[in-house]
Amino acid sequence: MLLSQDFFRSSISRRQWLKTTSLSATLAPSILLLSNNQQAAANQKTAQLALSAGTFSLPKLPYAEDALEPYIDAKTMNIHHTKHHQAYIDNLNKLIAGTGMEKESVENILKNLEKLPANVRTGIRNNAGGHYNHTLFWQMMTPKPTELKGELLTAINETFKSLENLLKSMKSAAMTRFGSGWAWLVYQKGKLAVASSPNQDNSIMDASGFPLLGVDVWEHAYYLKYQNRRADYVDAWTKIINWEFAASRFNEAKKL
Ligand code: MN
Repeated sequence: MLLSQDFFRSSISRRQWLKTTSLSATLAPSILLLSNNQQAAANQKTAQLALSAGTFSLPKLPYAEDALEPYIDAKTMNIHHTKHHQAYIDNLNKLIAGTGMEKESVENILKNLEKLPANVRTGIRNNAGGHYNHTLFWQMMTPKPTELKGELLTAINETFKSLENLLKSMKSAAMTRFGSGWAWLVYQKGKLAVASSPNQDNSIMDASGFPLLGVDVWEHAYYLKYQNRRADYVDAWTKIINWEFAASRFNEAKKL
């Protein structure tokens, strides 16, 4: 079920909706980076003119642009972070203005897409999804070797038999995602699962899972170095996974 291509596309029932809304307060502290940052907004010299809200800003990378070499090259990191991620943020800030949801966290926006006006809903889905996914993605990688251990290791071994099998499954999800999208390890209702999503969708949008790990398989994530060799890029990504971050996400997920 979780590997279904339409996994992230399922409609949100009213019951799920209410449940999701009630979870919002609990979820909020898990990713402080993603909240509307009023302090950053105040510091912005441009003041964004009429944009009194919708002031999301680009989070700094937790390492230097060349830190993930040779697995991910500095030029790709620079363009991916300062151009692609920035563009999602700029578009989100424009689109969210006037919707009444300007002050919501990205998580709350993603959980309440149906409440948005129809003419901006898809744009906000794509760009808020892009902001959320990339903010996580930078943290899901690290130049520092990290070890998978503890409860997440136990859970992975129980579900996938081994770390190697999990990584094979994620690679398969990444390779079978046609076009642009993501492959994920998510936690939902006590279970780990591998999934993939199209575009900038994620499992927050339909409350189908809490993302622990994700790999961006848009061509912009790898084309400069790997060209069409998505498999080589995904193999490289497995060398720089931030297992400590995944474990912290797992701990958050279990509290939900
Ligand atoms: Mn990307």
